[in-house]
Amino acid sequence: MLLKPFSGVLNSQARAAGNVDDQRRRLLKAAGLGGALAAVGGGTLLSSPASAMRTSARIVIVGAGAAGIAAANRLDQSLDGAEITVIDRRQRHLYQPGLTMVATGIWKTGKVVDRNDRYMPRAVNWIQDHVAEFDPDANRVVTTGGQVVPYDYLIVTTGLKVDYEAIEGMSPDLIGREGIGCVYDNPEHAERTWRMIDHYTTAGGVGLFTRGPGGIKCAGAPLKIAMLTEDLARRRGTRESLEMIYNSPGDGLFSQPDMDDFLKQEFPSRDIAINWHHRLKGIEPEARRATFATPDGDIRIDYDFIHVVPPMRAPDPLGNSSLAWQDGSFAADGNWMEVDQYSMRHRRYGNVFGAGDCVGTPIGKTAASVKAQVPVAVENLLSVIGDRETVASYDGYTSCPLITGRGRGILVEFDYALNMIPSFPFISPYREHWVPWVMKDRMLLPAYNAMLRGRI
Ligand SMILES: Cc1cc2nc3c(=O)[nH]c(=O)nc-3n(C[C@H](O)[C@H](O)[C@H](O)COP(=O)(O)OP(=O)(O)OC[C@H]3O[C@@H](n4cnc5c(N)ncnc54)[C@H](O)[C@@H]3O)c2cc1C
Repeated sequence: MLLKPFSGVLNSQARAAGNVDDQRRRLLKAAGLGGALAAVGGGTLLSSPASAMRTSARIVIVGAGAAGIAAANRLDQSLDGAEITVIDRRQRHLYQPGLTMVATGIWKTGKVVDRNDRYMPRAVNWIQDHVAEFDPDANRVVTTGGQVVPYDYLIVTTGLKVDYEAIEGMSPDLIGREGIGCVYDNPEHAERTWRMIDHYTTAGGVGLFTRGPGGIKCAGAPLKIAMLTEDLARRRGTRESLEMIYNSPGDGLFSQPDMDDFLKQEFPSRDIAINWHHRLKGIEPEARRATFATPDGDIRIDYDFIHVVPPMRAPDPLGNSSLAWQDGSFAADGNWMEVDQYSMRHRRYGNVFGAGDCVGTPIGKTAASVKAQVPVAVENLLSVIGDRETVASYDGYTSCPLITGRGRGILVEFDYALNMIPSFPFISPYREHWVPWVMKDRMLLPAYNAMLRGRI
């Protein structure tokens, strides 16, 4: 894969304000950074403490979710003397890939809730607040509490914002009432969604399944919710009483073409109707009516159950800052953070890196992408600190155990070119199999926790 090196196009403001900081970074390098360099190879090998790079660099990581904690641990293991600060007010750690399991009654909420302090490296300074302002021209962030935090290097891992307000009449308080489910954001929402699905698969009626347009986290989740609901109704013997309709905002179900073809046959074969070009625009909870924007104008559909999937975007402090894409589709579709899609380095601010759901790359927004992106971002940051060329490259790897029913699924793994890149040659990425289910149900949570600790 061709590495697109940092273009070096710092804007004039950044150049002016960055002089002092650039000098500081040069000083840090001169103070012995050319010595033992951390070796973060292939995204899996971590340097031993003995080979850690000596530095007094100030590194700030904003966001302590999957990507932020994994980056903190990798940096902690690779550097000696660095001042690493993590900023995030959230103390709970949420295993989000488990939310679909909670929302379909397979897991209890306790299984997806953990504590961030169990994974935070001890040497890290954890500021338990959110960042209200990114100021990359001055190399600092400001917290909601007014604390100004300067840095030499910044890693942005804020995740994304579920934009409930983009759907007229929708609010998170409605989840679990009036037939409304929404699997996103937290286990409480998933648990309340389960109450709605539990009732719907008993009582029957019209079920609408939706998907926000543009980049969303785990694009498989809306599909999994539909298929697991259908599977549950079948098991309960109520399937005949359910009229299920999946509403796609475009003309596809999944970005990877082979999987798209599979799903376009699978849904009709399970009597799940598909409405193309139906973007959820509004809901009237009391009337249980949804409005969809379609090429033929707005259409209203009454429902008994609806799975609302709002559009998603970068959190406001990031999306409104100069770290966001300034034009093009990544700006229009969510104000995502501007990074080089291969190096994970900001394209205009060379001391800034990003990983996880917040970045504007062609595909990603899964924990599997986080696992592939973080080692690249960290290795390239270490190279910048060590005054070496950045060579680590992210190929767009993303993966989803696309659960088609309880006990079965398809392990979909692909890259920027949308080519399937299966890790396990014995599991076909084109056919349902029990192994992806066992992975989802039993194996991925421990793997995720190992990723947080920087071990894989
Ligand atoms: C229902 C569902 C199912 C999924 N299924 C899968 C799956 O099967 N496989 C898979 O690989 N992935 C799956 N994912 C996606 C995966 O969980 C995410 O891609 C991953 O968690 C992203 O990690 P992140 O670190 O970027 O964001 P997060 O883990 O969301 O963390 C972001 C952190 O940033 C913090 N933050 C936000 N704003 C600020 C601020 N201004 N200042 C400081 N901190 C801030 C937040 O508090 C949070 O702690 C699923 C997600 C969902 C919701």
